[in-house]
Amino acid sequence: DVDREVCVLGRVLRVQGLVSRVLGDDGRQYACATRQLLKQLATELRHVVAAGDRVWVRPEGPPPADGALQEGIIERVEPRHGVLSRSSRSRQHLIAANIDQILVVASAAAPRLKPNLVDRYLVTAEKTGLRPIVCINKIDLVEPVDLVPIIGVWSQLGYEVLPVSAETGFGVDRLRARLRAKQTAFTGQSGVGKSSLLNAIDPGLALRVQTVSSESDKGRHTTTTAELYPLGEHVGGGFLVDTPGIRSFELWDVIPEEVANYYRELRPYVSQCRFPDCTHTHEDFCAVKDAVADGWIDARRYESYVQIRSGE
Ligand code: GDP
Ligand code: ZN
Repeated sequence: DVDREVCVLGRVLRVQGLVSRVLGDDGRQYACATRQLLKQLATELRHVVAAGDRVWVRPEGPPPADGALQEGIIERVEPRHGVLSRSSRSRQHLIAANIDQILVVASAAAPRLKPNLVDRYLVTAEKTGLRPIVCINKIDLVEPVDLVPIIGVWSQLGYEVLPVSAETGFGVDRLRARLRAKQTAFTGQSGVGKSSLLNAIDPGLALRVQTVSSESDKGRHTTTTAELYPLGEHVGGGFLVDTPGIRSFELWDVIPEEVANYYRELRPYVSQCRFPDCTHTHEDFCAVKDAVADGWIDARRYESYVQIRSGE
């Protein structure tokens, strides 16, 4: 077992090849190798350690020279929750661990709100079992009341929707409160104001995030790279998790037959269709289509379902 006199509990900020960067609860950072033993145990997971993991580190070697990191060895990985993974050829690739929630950033205008795209992120969240928070930025550019029909539908489904403006600061305190002490993966199309929002949450944060993203653009690890960014004390701790893969839907391994399960409002109806293999797109005697016609299911949400179901 782990020697708690010597070892330090910490959190993996990122994994690059065989080296993990760990932020110890002692406030120091460690460059860690993974113990060979652990690796042998990891039969079905390509990475035994992922960004976000809570790990026990045994410091190794001499105290580091100025600016260098203390080296260490990861002795143990604590049990995880909220795993982001991607399956390819029946293997699960672990991308990030202990994710508490997904922040989906969209913009009210410029670029215009694309509810179907938000639905697609919501499907990802439903698939991973992570709680999504829909953050609508640039609220200063619209009449908030104009968003009510769209936002209202998500809220009724139980999704949290936060209107914010990185520009005016509206809603930013509320967003910070949601991030406090959590590990939050964030996603959203380019141009919706993610960088601006990161800076509104914590000054300088966008710069730190961007530096690394542009490095990894050049690199090979784009798909699997996830990185944790500690949030400042004034946020109350917590981490933002940047996973380029979920932004670009690289983690999208939803098969057509399961899409309906990820639309909460469709679930009560899918078993009532005449045909057991009903796709709820064109069939007669479809309980889902009837529910849309009768107004129980929002027509716009249904449209986005059909789009995703048809592989568009
Ligand atoms: P990213 O690509 O998602 O990181 O988006 P950026 O943060 O770079 O923002 C894209 C553009 O939208 C920039 O010109 C920002 O100044 C602008 N922007 C971001 N947030 C807001 C906002 O809340 N209101 C307004 N009016 N503009 C914003
Ligand atoms: Zn049906």
